[in-house]
Amino acid sequence: MAKLMGQKVLLGITGGIAAYKTPELVRQLISEGAQVQVVLSRQAVQFVAPLALQGVLGAPVFLADDEGPSGMRHIELAKWADRILIAPATANRLAMMAHGRAEDLLGNCLLATKAQIIVCPAMNQQMYQAASTQVNCETLRRRGIHLWGPAWGEQACGDVGPGRMMNPEQIVQRLIGNQRLAGHHVVLTAGPTREPIDPVRFISNRSSGKMGYALAEAFRDAGAKVTLISGPVKLTSPPMLNVIRVETAQQMLEAVLEQVAQADIFVGVAAVADYAPAQLATEKIKKSADTMTLNLKRNPDILASVASHPHRPLCIGFAAETHNGLAFARDKLTRKKLDMIALNEVHQPDIGFDSDKNALTLITETQTKILTAKSKQAIAEEMVDFIIEKVISKQRAVEPAL
Ligand code: C5P
Repeated sequence: MAKLMGQKVLLGITGGIAAYKTPELVRQLISEGAQVQVVLSRQAVQFVAPLALQGVLGAPVFLADDEGPSGMRHIELAKWADRILIAPATANRLAMMAHGRAEDLLGNCLLATKAQIIVCPAMNQQMYQAASTQVNCETLRRRGIHLWGPAWGEQACGDVGPGRMMNPEQIVQRLIGNQRLAGHHVVLTAGPTREPIDPVRFISNRSSGKMGYALAEAFRDAGAKVTLISGPVKLTSPPMLNVIRVETAQQMLEAVLEQVAQADIFVGVAAVADYAPAQLATEKIKKSADTMTLNLKRNPDILASVASHPHRPLCIGFAAETHNGLAFARDKLTRKKLDMIALNEVHQPDIGFDSDKNALTLITETQTKILTAKSKQAIAEEMVDFIIEKVISKQRAVEPAL
């Protein structure tokens, strides 16, 4: 089946020995229905013949100095592409990208594009492990560029270690997996809310926002359009997603309600304060009596409001519990009318609030899946897999045919 139908992939080939595998990569991309254009670096032509690529592509490939008749080739290609895939990417190319160098057609395209950028490094294992290469990889990751591989194994130079390019079949399979949610809009809430008491004080909680941000990135990486509505956190906005920053539960609710009619999936990850001060003091409250009472009022339940909205998307909640976790989570699933709830047993050491790790139990009406402790990024990826395979596909299966 052509699982990349309609996808426009600009393949950048740089000068490593693994470039000899790229005609096969082009062939597999095309046989999955992708539209492909190819740009080679100056050195790449030493490792793979442009004519061989043109043969499988059935169209011309572009060389490093090609600027087209109007001198705008880089803009045309950069705007055309849905994804730019660089395979193989040499250590030198990673360094050029980390510094935004525009010395050839590919470098120019990379600066001029809004497309998703995927890089498959391939080089000698020592070059890959060199401190400068590792720093460059980290810089690219922080900018939202995807690094796939390298694989570990025997290398052309005889060394054994990390540095082999992922093979064409793996790359194509991952590209397919990477757009499983194409066309879906996911709205998430993340982080704590802050409920002001007076101009200098507020009520809040220990949520860091890390789980919600990791989940937003995992949805983006599965091809979804993502809107992340975030309470006050110390995290920087992840690239290529729409981040709306709010403070209070009321502001979070308003931001969510603006998005909900266009959302396919809603995930409430935020630790929304259950109560807010009934009155906001306009001036700083001075200390006087030995005790003082703060009057609190219930905050709106954002997730429950979305789940009962006329344009209800698929609704997923989180349940942070210190005891009786399964029972409380199941109760929330039914009471808030959710499609799935993720139970976060926050009493476990090194798990949950403010930690880099998490462990979850995913609960639907009919299924339960335990995700054992690992990084919040890895948990987020497993959770997105479960949502796609078990929740969305099940929902599609029961939708009446039109
Ligand atoms: O009822 P409880 O607060 O434990 O439910 C947790 C779930 O509900 C989380 O998904 C959280 O994001 C969401 N929630 C919400 N609005 C609230 C309270 C919780 O959206 N006011």
